Amino acid sequence: MGCKQFNEMKGDVMKKDLLTRLNEGPIMCAEGYLFAMERRGYLSAGPFVPEVVLEHPEVVTQLHREFIRAGSDVVQAFTYYGHREKLRIIGKEHLLEPMQKGALKIAKDAAAEFKDLDLMVCGDVANTNVFDPGDANTHKQCQQMYEEQVAWAKEAGVDFVIAETINWTEEMKIALKAIKDAGLIAVCNFITDHGCNCIPGDNAFPVALDNLFCNRFEMAEFAKDCVQNKINFIGICCGAEAHHVREMSVAIGKKPISMKYMPDMSKHFHHGTDKSLKKVNKEIKY
Ligand SMILES: [Zn+2]
Repeated sequence: MGCKQFNEMKGDVMKKDLLTRLNEGPIMCAEGYLFAMERRGYLSAGPFVPEVVLEHPEVVTQLHREFIRAGSDVVQAFTYYGHREKLRIIGKEHLLEPMQKGALKIAKDAAAEFKDLDLMVCGDVANTNVFDPGDANTHKQCQQMYEEQVAWAKEAGVDFVIAETINWTEEMKIALKAIKDAGLIAVCNFITDHGCNCIPGDNAFPVALDNLFCNRFEMAEFAKDCVQNKINFIGICCGAEAHHVREMSVAIGKKPISMKYMPDMSKHFHHGTDKSLKKVNKEIKY
């Protein structure tokens, strides 16, 4: 056995799973790919299908990189809403498998670019939009949708699978069972209709949320509150940008790559304290 091969094996053996990592301290999981891509002009609000995965994979890779540099411990494959029902509504069901597998590969490849970081890659399943509590046929349909996605995630070698943005407990149970049956660790994120501003009940959602964004400092406080309340899986979804993730990471004691470029107001032409700065600029009233 070659030395390189041995080291890779050793690396595999020593890799800790999510539960062990959570017991050791907080894990940051940056997401919000769907809205980020919509804002950048790579997919349409309404249908909200991650077509960017196939049309511009490099843009997805870049957002993974930004979140990793900002301190995300998890690279979440952008399979959110790349499911059968979402593709049906835009008449592109034939793209289901390449889109799912493409997103998983993009995430794995992005993580592999950062060999010095102990990153985890996760798959993602979402609200199916077909679940109807009173219609058992739709439960079967959900199960099939979850099972096919979880199988692709497992095949790609993810560390765990997130089931997210689901508001029916029964639908979540179906997703959870599909993930557990595949022998994978599951993270379940429900939608709540109170105590969370992710999906407000007025017309701001989903395309006029800009003035409702939390700023980086508010997100940092949120991350600290999580740690204080012993919540170790800390994330940010719709609305997330890399500066939020960085501030949250730093607030809970991590040292992300992009910490190198944290603000340094001492060198700002107007607010700064550096002796070489011009007095005339510092006196301007803004
Ligand atoms: Zn969200």
